[in-house]
Amino acid sequence: MPRWIHTRTPDAIAHDAARLFKEAYGYEPKGVWGAPGRVNVIGDHVDYADGVSIPFALEQLTAVAMAPNDKNAYRLVSVAPDGKKMEATVPVDQVGPLSPADWSGYVVGTIWAGTESKVIGATQGYDIAIVSDVPLGSGLSSSAALECSTAVAAFELANGHAPTHADLPGLVDAAIRAENEVVGASTGGLDQRSSLYGEHGKALVIDFRKGTTTPVPFDLEAHGLALLIADTNAPHTLSDGQYASRRGVIDAFTSYQPEDSFRDIDDAPAKARAWATAQGRDVDEVFRRVNHVVEETNRTIAAAGALEADDMDAFRQLMQDSHESLRDQYEVTTPELNSAFEAAGRYGSRMTGGGFGGSVITLVDAKAIEDTAQKIEDAALAQGFPAPTFLVARPGDGARRLS
Ligand code: ADP
Ligand code: MG
Repeated sequence: MPRWIHTRTPDAIAHDAARLFKEAYGYEPKGVWGAPGRVNVIGDHVDYADGVSIPFALEQLTAVAMAPNDKNAYRLVSVAPDGKKMEATVPVDQVGPLSPADWSGYVVGTIWAGTESKVIGATQGYDIAIVSDVPLGSGLSSSAALECSTAVAAFELANGHAPTHADLPGLVDAAIRAENEVVGASTGGLDQRSSLYGEHGKALVIDFRKGTTTPVPFDLEAHGLALLIADTNAPHTLSDGQYASRRGVIDAFTSYQPEDSFRDIDDAPAKARAWATAQGRDVDEVFRRVNHVVEETNRTIAAAGALEADDMDAFRQLMQDSHESLRDQYEVTTPELNSAFEAAGRYGSRMTGGGFGGSVITLVDAKAIEDTAQKIEDAALAQGFPAPTFLVARPGDGARRLS
């Protein structure tokens, strides 16, 4: 029997965060804020090459209950979706590059970066209680949900009002810096934009070259469709080094070209062959990597066009093509991801996120949700893989105050 990820309503998760706060600190929080995880529907491994992605914000939230304290320290408590409780105390003046580089860095790093860039303007410590329905490390961006819920909370507590649309780019930057500089993890900004800009019923076309985030209708129910997420639950072995090596090839190739942006390089795959030959690199491998990035961005632009034209058949075919390219050209899939892709029937299915583990998404007929989940689970168990966990994803609103 497929296992489904449990999701609370915004009111219920806000209530749980406030209760955790009261238990931990003995008084009521000033408020509770929430930010969603995200799923990238198409366009992976293109954000660092100025490409295009189409994610949407999930309904699943990370909720943060918060109040200022007079201790010159951040006190944190978090209960993760699996029930695991984490606690930390971080003096305000100890926050900076690679400090603290653990889970608390996503939270206090966002406040630190936003204060440094004068977007948030915090002047004291905070008591913080976190509860989340975004599974950690499943490719659904629990890290951005944590950063962005903190960002809107700290913004409102410091400035006395909620952030407006004009404040969002500054909060995106603070969240990215927390992850890149404080925690020391690599992120290209897709996740933070999705979590802050999400809109109910809409997907977001993010063009990293233009720096634009454009909501587009993504009304699956009107088409009788649903987006099924299967988290493979397979361990992320070697993922850091592998991610860096894929990105490294693209960065190195781009740095040898006269154009500033990968997007501006004409006929990049052919130039990549010449470059790899001159560099003594594996020519076919470099070609496949660069070709994926070019094709994936073109595919995602076509997918945005398919959404505008309401052509879900074309959209589903592009999803399948995307998975096959990530598998054969970029080589970031795993046997578990490929098993879920095959079991789901390929059409309308693809891995999502950075790969080397994580989740497979499938646009399925709404009547076939249970059936498809069962097929994916059967295939995983038959091959001795962990049992996946499942979620039906709907586009939800971005970071906001919950109570
Ligand atoms: P993803 O963002 O895809 O879930 P990451 O590796 O980027 O995966 O981020 C996961 C990490 O973020 C966790 O290992 C943990 O350090 C931190 N994190 C995310 N959500 C929470 C949470 N609710 N409580 C504590 N730490 C969290
Ligand atoms: Mg993350």
